[in-house]
Amino acid sequence: MNKKKIIIVGQGISGTFLSWFCYTTGIDFVVIDAAKENAASRVAAGIINPVTGRRVVKVWLDDILLPFAEKAYTAIGNFLGINAITTTSIIEFFPNPFMRESFLKRLSQKEDYIRLLDDDQPLSPCFNFEFGAGSIEPAYIVNMTALLPTWRNFLKAEQRLIETTFEHAALKISAAGVQYESHQADAIIFCDGVASAANPYFSLLPFALNKGEALLIEAPDLPAGHLYKKSLLLAPMPERGLFWAGTNHIWEFDNENPTKAFYETTAATLKQWLKVPFKIIDHKAALRPATVERRPFAGFHPVYKNVGILNGMGTKGCSLAPYFAHQLVENITGDQPLLKEVDIARFQRILSRTI
Ligand SMILES: Cc1cc2nc3c(=O)[nH]c(=O)nc-3n(C[C@H](O)[C@H](O)[C@H](O)COP(=O)(O)OP(=O)(O)OC[C@H]3O[C@@H](n4cnc5c(N)ncnc54)[C@H](O)[C@@H]3O)c2cc1C
Repeated sequence: MNKKKIIIVGQGISGTFLSWFCYTTGIDFVVIDAAKENAASRVAAGIINPVTGRRVVKVWLDDILLPFAEKAYTAIGNFLGINAITTTSIIEFFPNPFMRESFLKRLSQKEDYIRLLDDDQPLSPCFNFEFGAGSIEPAYIVNMTALLPTWRNFLKAEQRLIETTFEHAALKISAAGVQYESHQADAIIFCDGVASAANPYFSLLPFALNKGEALLIEAPDLPAGHLYKKSLLLAPMPERGLFWAGTNHIWEFDNENPTKAFYETTAATLKQWLKVPFKIIDHKAALRPATVERRPFAGFHPVYKNVGILNGMGTKGCSLAPYFAHQLVENITGDQPLLKEVDIARFQRILSRTI
């Protein structure tokens, strides 16, 4: 498939990287985005953690995705004149003896990325902890609060951004291409996050949306050199003294709003964990475009071959989006195959029932 012009719907982290790689590859494109304030990308901390879960196992495709993400964020950051990514470490305070044991077990199996902190005393003026701490490194923190608006401003300056809500009824599709209002293109690709679960072309994909929340706190005495994890994750924000504290996973919800329960539990946890003073200054919530199989969705619709998707980033958009956006662009320019686990060709039968 050799597309010349593409309409991209959505400028979260998926649409940002899809448009970035279109730009660097010389594919003509426009981005339509309504700048939803509580889109997942605008609420996320931007953490890339190389390990996951209680058993502290490496994340899926760590050796491919993480170096690729570091390179991609550095490149877009250099282009925009911002610091888009910082290499850091996560100090993990073991919340109980079992978690400490689990960590030590992985350590004995020579797990990459983790080590025990020989001397955790320097942490004691700031934190209450009883079972010691380990370190996870390298981890990364993406500067989402700078990257998304700076790339957006670039798109605007290049007249490649249409700031409006995309209406499906106005999309016309033919074998020759797609038309949206006055915009003619060879294909359209949806990077519309949770909206895809109601998208007429892709609603049958097995999405498993869930709600996540975070508090923004001011803690000027907390050192900003690391991320800190206990039952919560604390991530330093680019503004001095500000930390992001999250998160949770709510699977049953009837709105996208922040919940009182999360606020109260998190405030109590912070009070118990931190020895330094802090002030809660904001509370945010967003729905994550997660999937049943915990794998992204990328590729073109089996029936409407000019209609594509890059979505399903779940809890890990910051590490997944750069690599799979690049793979989708390579697929467009050179018919390179997409990784089978993300290619929506695996849902050909179900998608053939659409519309
Ligand atoms: C509390 C929380 C914390 C998180 N922390 C992390 C983290 O630390 N690290 C990590 O890797 N991931 C994290 N995530 C997950 C991450 O946020 C997502 O994986 C990622 O942001 C998804 O990006 P996206 O671009 O696919 O979708 P979105 O961010 O949802 O972007 C979709 C875009 O499409 C636009 N759009 C949708 N419909 C329309 C329409 N009809 N017309 C015009 N525009 C439209 C929206 O305005 C939006 O800009 C977190 C998520 C939550 C909720």
